Amino acid sequence: CGIVGYVGPQPALEVVVDGLARLEYRGYDSAGVAVLGGERLHTEKRAGKLANLRQALQERPITGEGAGIGHTRWATHGGPTDANAHPHVDNDNRVAVVHNGIIENFAALRAELEDDGCKFLSETDTEVAAHLLNRELARRGDKDLASALRSVCKRLEGAFTLVAVSVDDPDLVVAARRNSPLVVGRGQGENFLASDVAAFIAHTREAIELGQDQVVELRPDSVAVTDYDGNPVEVNEYHVDWDA
Ligand code: GLU
Repeated sequence: CGIVGYVGPQPALEVVVDGLARLEYRGYDSAGVAVLGGERLHTEKRAGKLANLRQALQERPITGEGAGIGHTRWATHGGPTDANAHPHVDNDNRVAVVHNGIIENFAALRAELEDDGCKFLSETDTEVAAHLLNRELARRGDKDLASALRSVCKRLEGAFTLVAVSVDDPDLVVAARRNSPLVVGRGQGENFLASDVAAFIAHTREAIELGQDQVVELRPDSVAVTDYDGNPVEVNEYHVDWDA
């Protein structure tokens, strides 16, 4: 239902959880975060209100100096449980994804991935994207997460905003958009993305609305947008002038 991503010098966990709080008005049934630190991926997620996630983070703190992503879920496939909450990770815990929308052809993809040896940890349509990304990165033998995401998106049907981070590139957040909102917030030495500008308006008012079937690569000092074939596209940058 809501998505937040951050890359920059601030502690990502705080920025992301704060961003999720600003999206609470949209309604949700679970919440979760993933942060990169020490060449590892740290994930926490809980059914219920953001307070449950905050409580879990207090009991088992996670730290990270890299990028972070967060999600508030409105369940469509699989009940509102801790396991079904986002982020979802691959079996090597190298890639984490959060997703808004529905991946219509997930059942066929899941069967294919299970045949390939993937173990599914949730009942969501989303989890296929984590396994597909890890498999695509392994197949290519490089660490180009944006390029892997472009390939994976071509296999997905339905409506989605899909956001991913990887241990191979801790200062990078990538995201793809099809029939679901996604806005980038451009900061100085830091960048944000969210399903709604409300998530980052406390930090920056310079926004870029992503178009249909586009992929964005977010680093502390750069924002690169391409189509699914990797061709750079012109971005529509604007200033948010309403009060949050
Ligand atoms: N279809 C996904 C799920 O059920 C995402 C739902 C959402 O947009 O929050 O987990």
